Amino acid sequence: MRPFAEKRLLVATHNAGKLDEMRALLAPYGVEVVGAAEMGLAEPVETEDSFVGNARIKACAAVAATGLPALADDSGISVDALGGAPGVYTADWAETGAGRDFPMAMARTWRELEAAGAPAPRHAQFRCTLVLMWPDGHDEVFEGVLPGQVVWPPRGAEGHGYDPIFQPDGHDITLGQMPAELKNSLSHRARAVARMIEAAFA
Ligand code: IMP
Repeated sequence: MRPFAEKRLLVATHNAGKLDEMRALLAPYGVEVVGAAEMGLAEPVETEDSFVGNARIKACAAVAATGLPALADDSGISVDALGGAPGVYTADWAETGAGRDFPMAMARTWRELEAAGAPAPRHAQFRCTLVLMWPDGHDEVFEGVLPGQVVWPPRGAEGHGYDPIFQPDGHDITLGQMPAELKNSLSHRARAVARMIEAAFA
């Protein structure tokens, strides 16, 4: 494991929420976090069929464009009874051609579970893969998993994406019903970041 000893880190995301979260998490380690939008980076097309493959595409494009070390993530929900779907296609299931429709994506998830005749509990995991890449092309990979189950109907208006149909193990409310601080303390992304900090920053 290579320790991270650089002063600046480019976080290869155009999502302001993810950027702020990363900036706050890394602040204690004296790392200046720079965002993809402020560096004028384009969003590369994600052509791989794995989380790590797509995260690596984003990290690689950011390093090539700036010469800075970069951190990229890819995430999604994998449902056991659907053979791991939607997985890397989590965002695609919400695509309409005119923006993302998550109620539609959640309804498809439930429809496919019913078609499969999957009995409760319908086990699923949110997964997050982080790729930390140095300017010389070396990278380290960190994963975070949040186990739980898909429930229906959707509950809660907090969070985003598939949060209203995902109930983490050990809780009787969905991510959509959780205050942001609670979700952010247990999420797949928080778990991946904690592993990265422990291994490369602490
Ligand atoms: P990305 O990694 O930001 O590209 O996210 C892929 C897709 O996974 C998003 O469009 C969301 O729908 C879904 N997703 C990732 N993390 C979460 C989460 O914490 N809650 C709900 N949906 C999520």
